[in-house]
Amino acid sequence: MLSTKGYAAKAADAKLEPFEFERREVGANDVLIEIEYCGVCHTDIHQTRNEWGNSMFPMVPGHEIVGRVAKVGTDVTKFKEGDFAGVGCFVDSCGDCENCRQDVEQFCQVHCAQTYNSTEMDEKTPTYGGYSNRIVVKENYALKISDSENLAAIAPLLCAGITTYSPLRKFNIGEGSNVGIVGLGGLGHMGVKFAVSLGADVTVFSTSPSKEKDAYNLGAHHFVVSKNEEEMKSLAGQYDFILDCVSAAHDLSVYLNLLKLNGAMCLVGVPEKPAPVHAFALIQNNRSLAGSGIGGIKETQAMLDYCAENNITSDVEIIPIRNIEEAYERTIKGDVRYRFVIDMKSLNNGE
Ligand code: NAP
Ligand code: ZN
Repeated sequence: MLSTKGYAAKAADAKLEPFEFERREVGANDVLIEIEYCGVCHTDIHQTRNEWGNSMFPMVPGHEIVGRVAKVGTDVTKFKEGDFAGVGCFVDSCGDCENCRQDVEQFCQVHCAQTYNSTEMDEKTPTYGGYSNRIVVKENYALKISDSENLAAIAPLLCAGITTYSPLRKFNIGEGSNVGIVGLGGLGHMGVKFAVSLGADVTVFSTSPSKEKDAYNLGAHHFVVSKNEEEMKSLAGQYDFILDCVSAAHDLSVYLNLLKLNGAMCLVGVPEKPAPVHAFALIQNNRSLAGSGIGGIKETQAMLDYCAENNITSDVEIIPIRNIEEAYERTIKGDVRYRFVIDMKSLNNGE
């Protein structure tokens, strides 16, 4: 077994603290990745605090992982030692069910082994995530990273990137689309970059007036403070597509009202509590309310390649792991520009 250092939450009300555990030896189809950076997703906060009621402890969070391949199994063909690789939100699936065959392994009908707060395919062995110095993963569930210059800014693509790229693609966003992005956080700022890059006219809806300048710098064309009821009403019926990236409870109908004929709103944010929706908000203009969950390996690779071609990375603030609790508090307050990324060297150096 491979002794591994990480940070774990031992209970929903406990702070994250150093934790040592073991990873499996590198099997024939596995790669060992020495982790260089791991992004901090709001999901890490929801789950370490058991806000969704499904937490398993001890929990080593982290599913925006990038690092260097340090060892490859005998049958591995996709990677060689020294390559850069990424791991996103899941590390295994059956590979054979209807959903896996359609490249949406995140919805494996047998079991999706999520990167943390989950189990391996035996549904017994806990999985531990990227707030750690190394990970062993099947080569088919690791992503290839071509640009080794910007590893820290690439890490958030593994979750925030694919989670926003996938629905924009599914809903055929492009030139002529009028798109709203709700909530300018880790997901939201990637949503803005992708929607702008795809050619859409993009409006950011934010509760934080202080983010206006950033929104324009990210490429958005309009910025609306969502608390401004008059302005929200004046935009009724104008949008083709709205991507809701908000992590806390909020009223969905104010955004549904902004959709034009056949417009769709897609939820990617997952607040702790369900949100009520009046049927009239959907019936008017034949609107749709949809959801989207991360993306499969094939689409995640396509997203990473798209980002490399179009110079898209995340805007990040790099932190040592000892500052993780402060980073969580700042993320909850919306005070992150726009993704915290942990420098995993800080773990080895005991910083
Ligand atoms: P984040 O960086 O904290 O961003 C969330 C943003 O929501 C904030 O920046 C803020 O934007 C807005 N917000 C926060 N509290 C609010 C409130 N009380 N009312 C209205 N707006 C509020 O979080 P994230 O990492 O982007 O994650 C966002 C959500 O997506 C989380 O719930 C996460 O679990 C979920 N998620 C889902 C998937 C998926 O597959 N569907 C994948 C990853 C994450 P403004 O300051 O601009 O208002
Ligand atoms: Zn995430």
